[in-house]
Amino acid sequence: MSLIVQKFGGSSVSDAEGIKRVARRIMDTKAAGNDVVVVVSAMGDTTDELLDLAGQLTDDPPAREMDMLLSAGERMSMALLAMTIDGAGEKAVSFTGSQAGMMTDAVHGKARIIDVSPQRVRQAVDRGYVAIVAGFQGMSPDSNDVTTMGRGGSDTTAVALAAALNADVCEIYTDVDGVYTADPRIVSAAQKIDTISSEEMLELAASGAKILHLRCVEYARRFGVPLHVRSSFSEHEGTWVLPSEDDKIKIQEGEPLEQPIISGVAHDRSEAKVTVVGVPDVPGKAAEIFGVIAGAHSNIDMIVQNVSTAGKDKTDISFTLPIVEGKEALDALRDAQSRVGFEAIEYDDQVGKLSLIGAGMRSNPGVSYKFFQALHEAGVNVDMISTSEIRISVVTHADKLDDAVRAVHAVFGLDTDVEATVYGGTGR
Ligand code: ASP
Ligand code: MG
Repeated sequence: MSLIVQKFGGSSVSDAEGIKRVARRIMDTKAAGNDVVVVVSAMGDTTDELLDLAGQLTDDPPAREMDMLLSAGERMSMALLAMTIDGAGEKAVSFTGSQAGMMTDAVHGKARIIDVSPQRVRQAVDRGYVAIVAGFQGMSPDSNDVTTMGRGGSDTTAVALAAALNADVCEIYTDVDGVYTADPRIVSAAQKIDTISSEEMLELAASGAKILHLRCVEYARRFGVPLHVRSSFSEHEGTWVLPSEDDKIKIQEGEPLEQPIISGVAHDRSEAKVTVVGVPDVPGKAAEIFGVIAGAHSNIDMIVQNVSTAGKDKTDISFTLPIVEGKEALDALRDAQSRVGFEAIEYDDQVGKLSLIGAGMRSNPGVSYKFFQALHEAGVNVDMISTSEIRISVVTHADKLDDAVRAVHAVFGLDTDVEATVYGGTGR
């Protein structure tokens, strides 16, 4: 008998029909002889709607209350799903994050898991119940308060439970058939990827592919949890994200041993670009600036340093960070301006990031040339560049991002004739 953790995203449970479909899916898995633990997200765009609602009432909601509010979304779906399964004659019981033993630090809005002790979940499963756990939330044993783990955090809840329960697989159900070579909402010729290494998936998620939460992929890799990303709207086999050991096992005779050069193109609209203009060009200034940013708890992504337009002996330092962290970071920089001695700050949130990812890239010369040539032909101006061994990322103007994604996807031969199916969701 296998233990399967199934996670259903918001678009899979957006209405009563969706909840019934998910309930059937779970019951089928149980009827096939498996133990099932389920993690659910909030229905549809509930989390966004709750955020909008809070925004209409105050500009500056206390982080603790925000977590109280947002965690309610997942509690609605878990209870509704449990009663649907119960009504259909199967045993089901729901648990909040804290009841399921998801212990986190006390940082509201982006809490990190410190311990998972799912005794109640285990007991429920042993008694023949489907255990349904609210995603994205936990509790801090220090503050005794409810926390949330950041947008998209239910994926991480699912993997953390799968690891703690020693599950055979963690299935992530979503509104497309798996991980695609680009967002099928932008590139209709994108193809589904059958298997991908955790390493490449990590780069895709880090580069803005919203299909899986970055922390979920990191967690799965650390604990060796196999992930199967698939659609709750179809029976199709999805994408397997395999920790490297399993990778080797998966290769069948006759299959090419080398990975394709490129696995996909990711994009991200959630970041802004900050330029600190006229920084004195002496040792220690970059450290001071990033010290200020770290103090504001911002996650910096790309960094570029240039000769300054402000004149000799000065440099400009540009970096990107999540738009949602922009205000705090700018405030902190302004407070430090006279101490650090720079001249001005520029802020631009009309930017987009495009990343090309592939493990085969590290041994293939000419990838960068082809990449920049495609951007050039599509009339896309490149603002910032960064690379890793298996990734090239550029920042462009937001208006040009979709064109850039399509051009790069095409030039690397990733386009197919079959149109990708998007079953639901807004991609919001
Ligand atoms: N409901 C939360 C969100 O929308 C968590 C999740 O969906 O994973 O971000
Ligand atoms: Mg989600």
